[in-house]
Amino acid sequence: MKVGIIGAGAAGLAAALDFSAGGHKVVVYEAAPFIGGQASTIPVGGAPLERGYHHLFTNDQAILDLMDDIGVAETMKWYPSRVGTYTSGKVYKTTTALDLLRFGAIPFLERIKLGLFALKVGRIKEWRDLENETADFWLRERLGGAAYDKVWAPLLKGKFGSFYDRIGMPWFWSKIQTRFASRQGIRGREMLGYPDGSFDTVFDKLQEVIESRGGEVHVSTPVEKVDVVDGVARGLVARTESGEEIREEFDTVLSTVPSFLFPDMVELPDDYKKRLLDVHYLAAVVVILELERPLTNYYWMNIADPDIPFLGLIEHTNMLPKEWYGGKHVLYLTNYLDRSDDVYKMSQDELLDLYLPHLTKFNPEFDRSWIQGVHYNALSAAQPIIPTNYSKAIPDHRTPVKNLYLANTSQIYPEDRGTNYSFRMGRELAEMMMNDEQRSWSVWQ
Ligand SMILES: Cc1cc2nc3c(=O)[nH]c(=O)nc-3n(C[C@H](O)[C@H](O)[C@H](O)COP(=O)(O)OP(=O)(O)OC[C@H]3O[C@@H](n4cnc5c(N)ncnc54)[C@H](O)[C@@H]3O)c2cc1C
Repeated sequence: MKVGIIGAGAAGLAAALDFSAGGHKVVVYEAAPFIGGQASTIPVGGAPLERGYHHLFTNDQAILDLMDDIGVAETMKWYPSRVGTYTSGKVYKTTTALDLLRFGAIPFLERIKLGLFALKVGRIKEWRDLENETADFWLRERLGGAAYDKVWAPLLKGKFGSFYDRIGMPWFWSKIQTRFASRQGIRGREMLGYPDGSFDTVFDKLQEVIESRGGEVHVSTPVEKVDVVDGVARGLVARTESGEEIREEFDTVLSTVPSFLFPDMVELPDDYKKRLLDVHYLAAVVVILELERPLTNYYWMNIADPDIPFLGLIEHTNMLPKEWYGGKHVLYLTNYLDRSDDVYKMSQDELLDLYLPHLTKFNPEFDRSWIQGVHYNALSAAQPIIPTNYSKAIPDHRTPVKNLYLANTSQIYPEDRGTNYSFRMGRELAEMMMNDEQRSWSVWQ
């Protein structure tokens, strides 16, 4: 079978890996000049660094299995993370459960309530029972008080903006499950994973294995159209960097592009198209600063303060060695925004003018002169908004066009999107598509 894949991110390359293992000819077209999609890198201080901060949790089994399968498992290393939370004008250490007991931003009894609430959610086994309620409802009605007002409400609003009260409870449930899995006991710090050499180690090896089996990966080659004849996908129309049109026939096609881009490349029935367009995506705006010294001693800083115009500070070199980046301290300033938001449209300099005055809140000595390099990235489909009862609204992987399949982050549920789940989904899609192909042959025989 000849397989066409649109997108060389985690989902597309994981699917390509398994198709090529099954002896199928696979061709991957990628619009960007690089592979890796949202987990791709740029050079910082001489080493690759993700455009948006990336790490793994200990229960991210699918990526660990995939790394094993392609022979790079030994590059995955685990590091203790240090977590802080900025609220009420101060940074609080919130690395361990014990830190929560000392979390002076809220009264003592509220801290106990906050911890017990997380334990309670962590013990829930069946996420389906939570489906018709929002995370905000649970946090407001079942937790409430200062724990809601000072911690969860600002974090939810910071992450999801005006959509904060529409997020289904399974999203919160899955976050708690993941974070519990990565912690070791009440004193334990969270352990986070990062491959030696960055996520490039996984993506580069994937490409190498796929190509060694006769597969092709073409970057800078956006797909413009899926060729459909009599309701069946027959091939792809793509364009090379030099403007040349490529038309290639395929037996089956997998698209991994975001839902809002998919209808631009293929005619779809209204009900399926509506499912796709009903999913709203937030964009991410990520500024990376190369600093001559650290801003804080935390890896991950939650910001529960609506007056600060970004959502989080991730100080990469407080978890990973700064020597990898030529001795530079690497700091991400991150934000999730609607694509219509003014901040999404700002230039790098405008963003710096907006963000930098707030950094003295985390370290009063911070000075612009510490900055030795700046990188700016905007990702348009960073975070799908997953509302209540989403299991009934999720777009099917098998599209109404025969032999055309879709696998993107809006189809990851109940977990929040992440590389682990895109790798898992890509592999599941390869299996589904190969099984469908076999079934259609057995019908003919
Ligand atoms: C700021 C940020 C931080 C994150 N942090 C983490 C983290 O810590 N840990 C973690 O596991 N995950 C993290 N994620 C999520 C993770 O990166 C994504 O869930 C995952 O990489 C998505 O993979 P994908 O293949 O499903 O989609 P994508 O990576 O979006 O891949 C889709 C690909 O399709 C390509 N494409 C689009 N249109 C076309 C076209 N017309 N023709 C050809 N190609 C096309 C795109 O260029 C892209 O490469 C983060 C994401 C963001 C934005």
